Amino acid sequence: QRKFFVGGNWKMNGDKDELTKICNSLMNAKLHETTEVVVAPPSIYLDFVRQKLPAKIGVSAQNCYKIPKGAFTGEISPAMIKDNMCDWVILGHSERRHVFGESDHLIGEKVKHALESGISIIPCIGEKLDERESNKTNEVCFRQLKEIAANIKDWTRVVVAYEPVWAIGTGKTASPAQAQEVHKCVRDWLKTNVSEEVAKSTRILYGGSVTSGNCKELASQPDVDGFLVGGASLKPEFIDIINAK
Ligand code: 13P
Repeated sequence: QRKFFVGGNWKMNGDKDELTKICNSLMNAKLHETTEVVVAPPSIYLDFVRQKLPAKIGVSAQNCYKIPKGAFTGEISPAMIKDNMCDWVILGHSERRHVFGESDHLIGEKVKHALESGISIIPCIGEKLDERESNKTNEVCFRQLKEIAANIKDWTRVVVAYEPVWAIGTGKTASPAQAQEVHKCVRDWLKTNVSEEVAKSTRILYGGSVTSGNCKELASQPDVDGFLVGGASLKPEFIDIINAK
């Protein structure tokens, strides 16, 4: 009963010209009605992209702050995202955690504020290579998830993304079995720590070097409910990934 979900995280890429082309290709393609599609342009292009795409395609910010407005130079708030008719925000992406030093605690505060502001969220979790190699994958993912879950009341507006850091932008995709293993553990964690209903209904996305070549097998795993796609979401193969299931 979990609707397949594919997000395109465009990161800090594209200009008006390139984003127009990507929007046009999304509009002209035959997208499976059974997939929920959300794209995340750089914040300066949220309005530009929202105006180009039909309502059935969601538009997401890639980050936001934990306060509605004020003296926070360079930040944007969930209220501003909403004001641009966009309904989603990615929070705790590994680049926010590891390039910009965001803590589990700050990400938790952002989760709380974004949901209270009425937008939906895609919180991200995932281990680094050394953590996987020292068998800390679950420990790290659960620690991150705990801080996120503690700030969520309404899980119907939450889609969790598992993105192993070693797989992001590296071309090293998690194998379908590796992805399934963590997704299953995350779902079990939700069952134990939140509720059986939330575990059953919450979508868990895989992210990290997803391509048209590996998406079908990953999508066939029982606990993989979709993808958060980086590099490939800027290319024509994004359509194939949307239609992977
Ligand atoms: P890549 O698909 O480029 O590996 O990026 C994944 C990602 O970080 C999506 O949020």
